[in-house]
Amino acid sequence: MKQAIVIGASMGGLLAARVLTDHFDKVTIIERDSLPQAAENRKGVPQGRHAHGLLAAGANALGQLFPGFKDDLVAGGALPGDPSREMGWYQFGGYKARSESGIEGIFLSRPLIEGTVRARVKALKNISFMDNTEVEELEYQQNRISGIQLIHKASSLKETLKADLVVDASGRGSQTPKYLEQMGFMRPTESSVKINLTYTTRVYERNSSDVNGLKGLIIAGQAPKNKCAGVALAIENDRWIITLAGALGEAAEATEPGFLDFARKLPAPEIYNIINKAKPLSDFVVHKFPASQRRHYEKLTDFPEGLLVFGDAICSFNPIFGQGMSVAALEALELKKVLTETKSLDGLWKRFFKRAAKVVDIPWTIAVGEDLRYPEVEAKRSPAVNFINWYVGKVHQAAQKDAIVANAFHQVSNLLKPPPSLFAPRLMTRIIQTNRQRSAKPSQPSEAFGD
Ligand SMILES: Cc1cc2nc3c(=O)[nH]c(=O)nc-3n(C[C@H](O)[C@H](O)[C@H](O)COP(=O)(O)OP(=O)(O)OC[C@H]3O[C@@H](n4cnc5c(N)ncnc54)[C@H](O)[C@@H]3O)c2cc1C
Repeated sequence: MKQAIVIGASMGGLLAARVLTDHFDKVTIIERDSLPQAAENRKGVPQGRHAHGLLAAGANALGQLFPGFKDDLVAGGALPGDPSREMGWYQFGGYKARSESGIEGIFLSRPLIEGTVRARVKALKNISFMDNTEVEELEYQQNRISGIQLIHKASSLKETLKADLVVDASGRGSQTPKYLEQMGFMRPTESSVKINLTYTTRVYERNSSDVNGLKGLIIAGQAPKNKCAGVALAIENDRWIITLAGALGEAAEATEPGFLDFARKLPAPEIYNIINKAKPLSDFVVHKFPASQRRHYEKLTDFPEGLLVFGDAICSFNPIFGQGMSVAALEALELKKVLTETKSLDGLWKRFFKRAAKVVDIPWTIAVGEDLRYPEVEAKRSPAVNFINWYVGKVHQAAQKDAIVANAFHQVSNLLKPPPSLFAPRLMTRIIQTNRQRSAKPSQPSEAFGD
């Protein structure tokens, strides 16, 4: 009987497990938290209390892994919507033009996504969950990982479980680099871009007529001077989740006046207005995110058989771009491909890490590229990066007047198209022409909302 173990029952672990159930007789997910029955927040996923955007590419991938997934989300209270038409995005001095783009977005809370995925995984017949259980070591014999050692948190009893494959989806705090060193392997090299981000979040009552019925707002200060951003997303049960994000030492205080003060620093007033008027439904929560972090497993030449690393344990992105869950879903599709193409588990790590790196490359470039607009962020800036950032600024500006440019931007930010699509000659011509016209002055929020 072929057995697999997955460490971590968050998005990464659940999605990896979903794929493994097609290739293993038994898949066991080990999670140190006590898993809630319903879609609720939990300790091991503190980020779940903050605004979580699900990109269209991620939603599509989830639909491939779980047919009818979007219907499940909508039944749970999620609000479907075209992000180009139903979300206001203010950056580079104006709101992007809004129009029908055909992009199928969805607005919801993180616990609803994870709870819905967990319910679908639980319904698979060859899966079992062991929660309240922490993995302490990997078992290593003759160049292979043969299982794990765990501790049952309630009883402190230790146990060893055997497996043909162990997938580490334990998040950015993953211990695999340390285990590799202990077993005599090289640790993966790491790229890290310090952004010192603080997320402060509160949930508010939402009236469907707020901001003319929009389901989302992203308002970003003009880098490098203004390091403040705000996100308001409609979530189930008539609520807004509002996250105020400060980079490089900026932070919204977790107090009523502090939160409002920070919202006032945003370059458009719509999020401030919601906070000022709407009834709060939660306390403030704060999350610190020091740095985007990428572990280059794809560059290793030697690695134990029977082990994979997945999700945030490979790469954890500046969360403002809302990419992590979608990347985990796209990695799951790649895992499915490599397991289908070659039945042998030998060398699986090499094949998977190469594919996962390709998934990670674009979102990493997007996230890090934007952070490099701040001179305080320590990293090499090639002339190419400076040029791309300059050009993307022009895209943002043209997108304020030209819906075709705006939609091209949304395709890229939703990971549906690669960034080079923004350099297509016809689009470039539109961008240049739109920006040349005097009327390409930044639109004012009131103009964008028509009030
Ligand atoms: C503030 C913030 C906001 C974000 N916003 C977005 C967003 O808008 N959109 C988006 O797509 N992504 C967002 N992300 C990223 C997203 O949350 C993650 O990419 C996603 O959860 C996938 O991560 P993961 O499952 O790999 O790891 P995690 O979510 O970190 O989960 C790791 C799991 O492993 C468990 N675990 C850890 N160690 C052990 C152990 N030894 N034994 C057993 N279990 C263990 C933990 O309890 C946890 O359940 C955000 C992240 C942060 C920090």
